[in-house]
Amino acid sequence: MTLRAGSCLCGQSHFTLDDDQPTVAICHCTHCQKSTSSAYSVMAISPREKFTVSGPLKKFADKGDSGRAVDRWFCAECGSPVWAEAEAMPDTAIVKAGCFDDTSWLKPTMQIYCDSRQEWAPIPGGTANFPKMPG
Ligand SMILES: [Zn+2]
Repeated sequence: MTLRAGSCLCGQSHFTLDDDQPTVAICHCTHCQKSTSSAYSVMAISPREKFTVSGPLKKFADKGDSGRAVDRWFCAECGSPVWAEAEAMPDTAIVKAGCFDDTSWLKPTMQIYCDSRQEWAPIPGGTANFPKMPG
């Protein structure tokens, strides 16, 4: 059992993920680019029951390109994106991996929405790459 802890920038929103091997993915979609103000987001994807979160979180009710709901939770105090839930992936926590206290274990194995990748953003080797969502 590996309990991984993380928090937002101000520290008021914090979480633990009790998962040895979450799937680590890079998302190049335009919504992740906007919400992170960066080129892509890095996510640790785990069963929802393995994720515990608390703090002054606020939800932005977004939609994926399928039209299905994507709830993006961010810290209401400092604005850091903390985690998300997608209707297309029920009972799954999508944790914003930059918020983990220790990020040394992160090894992305998948990249999605490569169609909207910013041209300069590198595609590291060893990942499965998808133009949009896999499958
Ligand atoms: Zn915060």
